[in-house]
Amino acid sequence: MTSTSEPVLIAGGGIAGLTMALTCHQIGVPVRVLESVGDLRPLGVGINLQPNAVRELYDLGLADELARIGVETREWALVGRNGNDIWAEPRGLLAGYHWPQFSVHRGQLQMLLYRAVVERLGPDAVTTGCRVLRYRQHGDRVTVEVDRRGAGTESISGRLLIAGDGLHSTIRQQMHPGQGEPHWGGAVLWRGTALGEPIRTGASFLLVGSLEQRFVHYPIAETDPATGLQLQNWIAELSQDPSGGWSESSWNNEVDIATFLPAFEDWDFEWLDIPAMVRRADKVWEFPMVDRDPVDRWVDGRVALAGDAAHVMFPVGSNGASQAIVDARVLGAKLLEHGVGPEALSAYEDELLEAMSALVLRNRGAGPISILGVVDERCGGVFDDIDEVIPRGEVEAFMSEYKAAAGFAVDTLNQASPTISI
Ligand SMILES: Cc1cc2nc3c(=O)[nH]c(=O)nc-3n(C[C@H](O)[C@H](O)[C@H](O)COP(=O)(O)OP(=O)(O)OC[C@H]3O[C@@H](n4cnc5c(N)ncnc54)[C@H](O)[C@@H]3O)c2cc1C
Repeated sequence: MTSTSEPVLIAGGGIAGLTMALTCHQIGVPVRVLESVGDLRPLGVGINLQPNAVRELYDLGLADELARIGVETREWALVGRNGNDIWAEPRGLLAGYHWPQFSVHRGQLQMLLYRAVVERLGPDAVTTGCRVLRYRQHGDRVTVEVDRRGAGTESISGRLLIAGDGLHSTIRQQMHPGQGEPHWGGAVLWRGTALGEPIRTGASFLLVGSLEQRFVHYPIAETDPATGLQLQNWIAELSQDPSGGWSESSWNNEVDIATFLPAFEDWDFEWLDIPAMVRRADKVWEFPMVDRDPVDRWVDGRVALAGDAAHVMFPVGSNGASQAIVDARVLGAKLLEHGVGPEALSAYEDELLEAMSALVLRNRGAGPISILGVVDERCGGVFDDIDEVIPRGEVEAFMSEYKAAAGFAVDTLNQASPTISI
């Protein structure tokens, strides 16, 4: 028999894993995070947290910390190839949600969660330099074999194993040995940050261009009153023929701007100078836009996949990190309801797998930015009066449908009871 003091094991100290650790602590379940890197550092650039995820972080008591590192997003806009607006809508509190949407630096969010874990659970809650290699189930235990970075391998046992080990999850690979490499659809993202003057609302998320060539821009820090500048995140995207495949998908490949800047050289609108913004970044990272085909199960007995390990998706709807947070909270709610055992994991899978598998495929079809494709098809992305190209009702219906599919329809979310109420 396992003892109730034996921990739930979490593979990966990323967004899903650390939120899971805080959630377990909140509901009184011992937990231990096993993270492969030797030293957690604030890697990545910008991400967006939708109100459904922000609600969960608030319920974990992290509202003030979140406000310190991020920006409350006020607007979401689609912009045509000639710099004219296709669509602009308010976001977060301005859109009637009870919670804001936040644009944050991914690494700072991870560090915020990590600090909270260390403060609340103690420094031993996260073991770094500890790469999970495989799991084995026996009776009411699960044991993982880990590689301790030059210090050999070790076995660690717990009551459950939650896999928050991301895009290249070894646990998912063991659960689904035939899944192969991530699927690349042909788009490449170049990501960077640069200081710049506030644009539009000062907290606008902008998507400019077409499906084949686009630019995303949003601030991830408040404006510094001394300089009038804010840290802004940008992503340049170009599509190419995917038949040759992509050899490596890591978030940390640094490249030169010459790789893609020529394609954007004339994207200088009066209010947004894209080439200048790209040139101001000190570092630029390249990432092939990859996802994985949905799988028919996330749970194997006492082992469950969460976050990107469960449903990595194209980052077109700003919901990868948001859903990783929601997964952890739903898992926590099921542990409370069913106890710390396989029933809880099955209930989690029953609640989320079908909807998230559909969302992975919806985002593969470009998600909320499909509208850019429609406008491109109808007028080459160049127009004076958008009403002559696409009726507002058509965009509005599309946006509402997407928010419902991704779990952040305003009325449904506002009326939902807390995922965990204790
Ligand atoms: C370094 C890095 C930079 C990123 N930058 C961006 C970005 O700029 N924009 C964006 O949209 N998304 C970025 N992402 C992805 C984004 O964080 C996720 O899509 C999303 O937040 C879901 O979180 P997750 O916890 O499921 O996965 P992740 O946040 O990717 O976390 C997975 C964690 O598991 C650890 N891990 C992996 N394998 C093992 C193993 N075998 N054993 C133990 N631990 C393991 C990893 O080191 C990592 O800490 C980045 C991810 C990483 C790891």
